[in-house]
Amino acid sequence: MDKCPVCHGYDNHEFSRDKKRIYYLCNDCSLLFVPRNLLIGIDEEKQRYQAHNNDFENADYRAYLSKIIDSLEPFLLKGTQGLDFGSGKTTLFADLVKERGFAMISYDLYFHPDEEIWFKKFDFIVLSEVIEHLREPRHCLERVKSLLNSSGQLFIKTKFYPSDKKLFDNWFYKRDMTHVQFFNRNSLNQLAKSVGFSGSFKMIGEDLYRIVL
Ligand SMILES: [Zn+2]
Repeated sequence: MDKCPVCHGYDNHEFSRDKKRIYYLCNDCSLLFVPRNLLIGIDEEKQRYQAHNNDFENADYRAYLSKIIDSLEPFLLKGTQGLDFGSGKTTLFADLVKERGFAMISYDLYFHPDEEIWFKKFDFIVLSEVIEHLREPRHCLERVKSLLNSSGQLFIKTKFYPSDKKLFDNWFYKRDMTHVQFFNRNSLNQLAKSVGFSGSFKMIGEDLYRIVL
């Protein structure tokens, strides 16, 4: 048993294990998470992000990001201010969003630690493939939510885990050692509720969810 990083409860059990890690299933919020004593160190984590092949030149990555923006765009007003929270190495996502007539800042704890963001407000914030990496997802989302202005929108992209144990055991997404928890609809909504959102996430694209303040 370990403390659930979303609901902070202790009612969980081992769901699966592989050579490197154990995965607990929270009986309250259905988060699947790696116990915190089995996480890789910060230096190793950073090295793995450094090795991510998300280059500006990589056409596939550009197409991948453009598809996300296609799904976001209908919900955004031209000229409004966005934040790409957990951008990774490049600012490509923000650059592509700007090309479509919005403002956007990139923030990344390791690569773009622009701490000025904590003194700003944003119309929309995007966490694209970020939430599964966070050591303290609830605490982090609480801080992110405080950056939204009164009509702010939050977009989260993450892959929901397969509930079938056999499928989970062979799931590529869990092999990334920097992925330390996995959500389904229930756990994502519990996370939103725990930080004070009144509604629930709605799916607006592939693995992409939106919630409003
Ligand atoms: Zn939980």
